[in-house]
Amino acid sequence: MAQLSPLIVTLDGPAGSGKSSVAHRLARRLGLRFLDTGAMYRGLTAVCLDRGIDPGREPAAVVELAGKVRMEFDWGTDPPRLYVEGRDVTPRLRDPDVTARVSDVAVLPEVRRVLVRAQQRIGESCPRLISEGRDQGSVVFPGAQVKFYLEASPHVRAKRRAEQLRQEGRAAEESQVLVGIQERDRRDTGRSEGPLICPEDAIRVDTSDLTLDQVVDRLEAHVRTRYGEAVAGPGGGRSSDAAGPGGPR
Ligand code: C5P
Repeated sequence: MAQLSPLIVTLDGPAGSGKSSVAHRLARRLGLRFLDTGAMYRGLTAVCLDRGIDPGREPAAVVELAGKVRMEFDWGTDPPRLYVEGRDVTPRLRDPDVTARVSDVAVLPEVRRVLVRAQQRIGESCPRLISEGRDQGSVVFPGAQVKFYLEASPHVRAKRRAEQLRQEGRAAEESQVLVGIQERDRRDTGRSEGPLICPEDAIRVDTSDLTLDQVVDRLEAHVRTRYGEAVAGPGGGRSSDAAGPGGPR
């Protein structure tokens, strides 16, 4: 089978804009690897909390941990599970304590430098990737071939996030989720390093009135029109380099 050319697609946007679900589906359809960078910030936050480190009060301890822990995705699972020091932290990532504290971790410039570099290394070892987060098109992969920025009104985002939490079997009051989302928006857009912005060359998509499938269809059509030769045929399927052998790497 002919080698497919490198293709990096970035997907940025605020909490609840649908990035993760969209990126995951789009990656499957196009045969690209899916990188959830929010999971990395969440994973580090979970490990801090589980070791008794308060990210708001002990930034130096967070930075020290960020510099020394081994963080790996298992690319053989779909979506990829995240391991920190060999422990599967995936079940912890969406716990309320982690969600409430993750921006205390993500605001630290030294932490961002470590995770940005780790994300760039993933892009170097697998340059066929959909990467989603807050700073993927602006800081991590400024040379990405395709950049998307998803947005939706805060109320729509809170409704979706509450629904998603309920589906995971967690209690979720929409008004509380809204407060949490607005607080994270404020912190994510206001920090000095890697703030949430829409890159100049990104395609902006308002998903407020679109279903998940409609968003994925729209993005897929765009990538296929411009980079059809670089992606798997319609119907999806993973290319040989998109699915690694089992086990974290
Ligand atoms: O996307 P998700 O909600 O999982 O991200 C969790 C948090 O991680 C965000 O609110 C943000 O503070 C941080 N984050 C970030 N940069 C990224 C991805 C996530 O600062 N690239």
